[in-house]
This record gives sequence, structure tokens and C-alpha cells, in this order.
Amino acid sequence: MGGYAYAGMWPGSQIFGRTLTAPGLPSELALTFDDGPNPKWTPKLLEVLARYEVKATFFLIGQFAAQNKALVREMQAAGHVLGNHTWTHPNLARTGPGRTREELARTKREIEGITGAPVRLFRPPFGGRSPWTGPIARGLGMEVVLWNAMTADWDATEAEPVAAALLKKIGKNRRAGRATNLVLHDGSHRMPEAERGASVGAVGRILAARVANVRMVTVGAWVG
Ligand SMILES: [Zn+2]
Repeated sequence: MGGYAYAGMWPGSQIFGRTLTAPGLPSELALTFDDGPNPKWTPKLLEVLARYEVKATFFLIGQFAAQNKALVREMQAAGHVLGNHTWTHPNLARTGPGRTREELARTKREIEGITGAPVRLFRPPFGGRSPWTGPIARGLGMEVVLWNAMTADWDATEAEPVAAALLKKIGKNRRAGRATNLVLHDGSHRMPEAERGASVGAVGRILAARVANVRMVTVGAWVG
């Protein structure tokens, strides 16, 4: 991987234009979920979020949204913020401008067609970007959103270590004076039937362990 590709894959990199990670508001925490909607795991996650009365931000894969329209409407009705995570989950560091635009525009149209609400947030799969990714997203009215707390929840079999790793990252961000933009996965871009019990279980543990004075927000609250 050359330096150029590396810059495009590094979540904190601003080389390819403005991106949103997390503002300097150490008391705030945004839970975000990628690679859904998933007919098995997303409803379980919605239950946990409802139990704690927390609104989250979901970055949806367009083709899965098209296959699970009622679920997308349910997420919207529950007050969650829905963002764009492309139609097929390609690495945009290796995707040309024409296909990038198609991936983003088709997904935005699909979600907006289902919910009737504008989609203002976009998260690139794997954090991968090219010089044209940001301009295309912003041209479609979306901010590019990255993250600053992630662990390999997609490989985990137990919730406890996932929650522990993320709580540690929340603490680290707070000490650095930053909000936390935490990402977990309620689906899988390659294998929709993949196990996500550890990811959903970790959410309950993080919310139960809730650090003192933390304020749960959506990423939407950070873009004004
Ligand atoms: Zn993803």
C-alpha cells in the first residue's frame, strides 16, 4: 500500500478533504452502526436502544435497505438517524468517480424513497476514500463521517471484550477532550447471515456501564 492509498484509508486523515470524526465535546457519545439493515440483528439492536431510550446513527448498505424496507421505516419511526454506506460496499480508495457517484446516489435515493426524509450523512466502507469521494458526497448533500472508536466486533464471539475495548476508547477520547463516534456492526456486507450477537450484546453492556455525565447524541446533532 503506497502513501497515497494509506492516506485515503486512515480514518483521521484530512488529505482528501473535510471529514467529520467527533467534535471537541468530551461528554458526548454517538453510537453508530454499519452494514445493516439486517433482518435478524437490527431488530434486536432496536430493542436494546429502545430499552435505554437511546437514538443511534445507522449507515445503511443501499441494496440491504431495498430488501428490508419495512425495517428501514421502523428505524426511522424510532427516531434513529439513517446514513448512506454505499449500495454494494466497495472500497472507494479503488473506485472511480463514475461508479462512486452511482453507489452514493442510488443509496441516497433508495433510503429517501423509503423514509421520505433527507439523507445527510455518508460513511465510506472501510474508511476508504479517493480525492473525488468527498466532493461527490458533498455534491449530493452529505457530510463524510468517519469514527474514533472501533474494535473488531465482526470477528468477536463474546460481547464482554468488545464492550471493554470500546469503553476504554471512550475514556481515551474523553481524556483527549473529544466526543466519541463509536462504530459497531449490525450486519455484514459479505455475509448477511453472519453472527452479530457479540456486537448487539456489547451495546447493552456499554449502555449499562454508562460513564458518568455522558450525553448520547446522533451524528446528525454534530452537523447542525
Ligand atoms: Zn461497512
